Amino acid sequence: MGTEAVPFLDLQPAYRVAQPAIDAALLRVAGSGWFLLGKELHAFEEAWARSCGTAHCAGVANGLDALFLSLKALGVREGDEVIVPSNTYIATWLAVSQCGAKPVPVEPDARTFNIDPARIEAAITPATRVILPVHLYGQPADMDAIMDIARRHHLKVLDDCAQAHAARYKVRPVGGLADMSAWSFYPGKNLGAFGDGGGVTCRDADLMQRVKVLRNYGSQQKYHNEVKGINSRLDEIQAAVLAAKLPLLEAATHERRAIAARLLEGLAGCDLQLPHVPHWAEPAWHLFVVRHADRDGLQRRLAEQGIGTLIHYPVPPHRQPAYAELGFAEGDFPVSETMHREVLSLPLWPGMSELQIERVIKAVRASV
Ligand SMILES: *Cc1c(COP(=O)(O)O)cnc(C)c1O
Repeated sequence: MGTEAVPFLDLQPAYRVAQPAIDAALLRVAGSGWFLLGKELHAFEEAWARSCGTAHCAGVANGLDALFLSLKALGVREGDEVIVPSNTYIATWLAVSQCGAKPVPVEPDARTFNIDPARIEAAITPATRVILPVHLYGQPADMDAIMDIARRHHLKVLDDCAQAHAARYKVRPVGGLADMSAWSFYPGKNLGAFGDGGGVTCRDADLMQRVKVLRNYGSQQKYHNEVKGINSRLDEIQAAVLAAKLPLLEAATHERRAIAARLLEGLAGCDLQLPHVPHWAEPAWHLFVVRHADRDGLQRRLAEQGIGTLIHYPVPPHRQPAYAELGFAEGDFPVSETMHREVLSLPLWPGMSELQIERVIKAVRASV
């Protein structure tokens, strides 16, 4: 068995698979002389909406803006509350704060890492406007349960799909399940651009129009500004790259599922908590996250054997200095806090070789 290192992530194999289409797209845009809000963007928006099983898509500058502009379109403002997971990437919370609203954390289910629907109702107050679940690590959240709670309380649902490209919930694609869905096309995401990128998908034409106005200075007609918008556009180069990669996403996702199945099989019986997949979930496997009581020791032992790992995430949002204003203390969200101490993400990417998968399994088995 080879001894070469296994990096946490390698984006080169995916580029090689799509290279002819991507290179042609880059040259096409360079030669077109048109770089913003043009036909590349329209083509990608149409294709992405279709693959999400919904009607509309708006490309924006990044995932954080996709969340922020969706909340703005839903009318969230100062004094409002938005229910968020206590364990997520901080962008989910920041989008709420940018609207002047308050993120209200709800603990996850300890097995799926996703917001626990059974705990949501206790967090609803008269100020609640939106429930914002995250399909963390690419595992779909329990959307039927969440939508049901939202309908009963007259709330809207925006889902953070930044890690869940091509994931499916009860056969339906993520991105067409909530009132609005926000995407990141950051290079390391399952559908990644060559720089920052983001998008919003939804069924409702009016909501979509609001996002399209807000992303472009609050303007529909050049130099006529209806509302105070921002500048947040998915440029033509990024849109063309994404459109070139999109036809390969389904195959890349199947490959991720096959690698995840190999890891689950190879690590069965280890002293580790392996990812739990509910019967209705077809995850996108953005990350393969295990839990271990001595996480830092495990990470060190794997590094010694050349296996790259990362922690998603070492500090929960409520314990970040940026959120000191909310006054949370250690112990306020114990499920999430334990998770942040114990989670470790193992290497998993399309193009990972059989030898690399074997090396990861062997190293983990020797380290727990
Ligand atoms: C990546 C990510 C975001 C933010 O996306 P950017 O494009 O980096 O702004 C938001 N939420 C989650 C869960 C993410 O993983």
